[in-house]
Amino acid sequence: MSRKTIIAGNWKMNKTAGEARELARELSAAVDKLSQKDLPQIVLCPTFTSLPAVTTTLTGNKKLAVGAQNMDYRDNGAFTGEISAPMLLDLGVQYILIGHSERRQFFGETDLTVNQKLKAALKHKLVPIVCVGESLDEREGNLTDKVVAKQVAGALQDIAEQELESLIIAYEPVWAIGTGKSCDSEEANRVCGLIRTTINEYYKTSGKPGDKVPVLYGGSVTPANCEEQLAKPNIDGSLVGGASLKAPDFVAIIEAGAKRVARTPQVV
Ligand code: PEP
Repeated sequence: MSRKTIIAGNWKMNKTAGEARELARELSAAVDKLSQKDLPQIVLCPTFTSLPAVTTTLTGNKKLAVGAQNMDYRDNGAFTGEISAPMLLDLGVQYILIGHSERRQFFGETDLTVNQKLKAALKHKLVPIVCVGESLDEREGNLTDKVVAKQVAGALQDIAEQELESLIIAYEPVWAIGTGKSCDSEEANRVCGLIRTTINEYYKTSGKPGDKVPVLYGGSVTPANCEEQLAKPNIDGSLVGGASLKAPDFVAIIEAGAKRVARTPQVV
């Protein structure tokens, strides 16, 4: 049995609620026309303000789930401007992006806050998609493996192996995000494999939990390059930014995901 295929769209700070509803409708109608047998799990991550519009539009749709782009690790309290896991669950949100590089770069996210948010997601049964990846300086300084392994181990601090069942990791090299310069698929495959090995080494058990964790690639994924990426054994799906905002492009990436599902029996 191979790992689940997941195609997730990060809409970042784009679209009003009305525009988000329209895109969700368009995607839902297009996905309905595809062969349902081999569909990957699809996750749409709109802004907080569009979550109700998108969850309502997709109510009852098992293949298109909704994720948020960030959350606070606390449940409630005097934290002005923050949003918690119970609030997201209340809206029908099922997935949560944690530690996206834009959060790390611009909003002070650290390995510690990623770990705190991961614990909160697991506690509340939101499916976490933890993002890791090196900057251009780090890649040019041959630090990719060290940085990625540190981010993965940092996220997993004090998390029991049995809690990892729903964990998803996304390898997103910072230099590839929004630049049009996607990581070479062979190299992306190598780093996704390293992520899995890091998880196995962290737990040091015969269970090899890393082998069960889906690892996605993200960074300038397009209809033109996704098929090659998704053909690699260590890449279980795509985390898509820019191309997820255009229905035809995102549907083409979903179709590439469906080809992966058809090739490999999926864990349900
Ligand atoms: C992202 O935001 O996670 C991302 C990968 O963006 P893009 O596809 O635009 O590079």
